[in-house]
Amino acid sequence: MTIQSFFPPQRTLMGPGPSDVSPRVLSALARPTVGHLDPTFVGMMDEVKSLLQYAFQTKNQYTMAISAPGSAGMEACFVNLITPEDTVVVCVNGVFGMRMIENVKRIGANVVIVEGTWGRAVEPQALESALQGNPQANFVAFVHAETSTGVLSDAKTLCQIAKQHDCLTIVDAVTSLGGVELRVDDWQIDAIYSGSQKCLSCVPGLSPISFSDKAAEIIKNRDSAVQSWFLDQSLVMGYWSGEGKRSYHHTAPVNSLYALHESLVLLQNEGLENAWARHQLMHEKLASGLSELGLTFIVPEDERLPQLNAVHIPDGVDDGKVRAFLLDEYNLEIGAGLGDFAGKAWRIGLMGYAARNENIALCLSALKKALKTAQQYA
Ligand SMILES: *Cc1c(COP(=O)(O)O)cnc(C)c1O
Repeated sequence: MTIQSFFPPQRTLMGPGPSDVSPRVLSALARPTVGHLDPTFVGMMDEVKSLLQYAFQTKNQYTMAISAPGSAGMEACFVNLITPEDTVVVCVNGVFGMRMIENVKRIGANVVIVEGTWGRAVEPQALESALQGNPQANFVAFVHAETSTGVLSDAKTLCQIAKQHDCLTIVDAVTSLGGVELRVDDWQIDAIYSGSQKCLSCVPGLSPISFSDKAAEIIKNRDSAVQSWFLDQSLVMGYWSGEGKRSYHHTAPVNSLYALHESLVLLQNEGLENAWARHQLMHEKLASGLSELGLTFIVPEDERLPQLNAVHIPDGVDDGKVRAFLLDEYNLEIGAGLGDFAGKAWRIGLMGYAARNENIALCLSALKKALKTAQQYA
């Protein structure tokens, strides 16, 4: 038997990521591969850097994309900044906050956990109390947009509190970047990471990150080597910066970076604030359609993420059967519940290119059919 070429089906991706990729981004991927030190490519990388500065709303020099998915961006922020002597306050209200704790523990640093409720925003008052009770703390970490539950936390206020206690801030913006308001400089975020495949609607496998000057200073002045050679930013920056002295660290994923560049050009052309407004508008349309179908949201209205809509699965409806029906009959992917919500929730993504009228119409009519079918056989 000879194995043939792989042709994936044409799905509509409305889960927690990856999201639908724009045809323009897909065609950028297919452009000819050049060397990762080719002068034209190096010029494009500089553009990626300034487009990311725009997307993050930052002037941070230390802004680039890690050659690996969002989880690597998370790990890069933690292993570069934190040493075993540090105390990190981690706010947890879902799966991704738990992963932050895991990162801190593996470094051997002290962790103070601010335990929140799954499906609710991080409580600023709880962070304040934790910091008052732990004056030795020097970092605060939290997830801006908790994709596991569809919750948006008030990053601006949380960072303000962290700063009042002289802490550096580490923020997960994997799902928030490009989808909701995010202002790295105004909000005083010191280290932030995102992912290419959520609201940027690029292919998976890249993680935009940015470090404030203060964070960059810490990385530069470390006494001990970063435990991960690949993620060591003092080495990686030699490749991403330094006009004329760009040096080899690893082979950049050249074509994936064309794709990221294209997705950021699309974001720039639309305008960041317009993209935020589009996600909100599409969310409102989807939400009203979902409530007509009798589906209720997990998250209170003012804490909802427009780009990730988590709804309760109605009693007696088989989670797996409905999602299989959507995939088989409509080529439509929605997300399952995670962690505490496994089997109890669906997560409907409206991320980037997927935040469109066409997707909402398809999702609502397919779900209506799926629920009818599920109830017939219940
Ligand atoms: C998806 C996601 C991640 C992990 O990103 P990967 O690209 O899957 O590694 C981290 N944090 C949040 C909030 C996410 O939504």
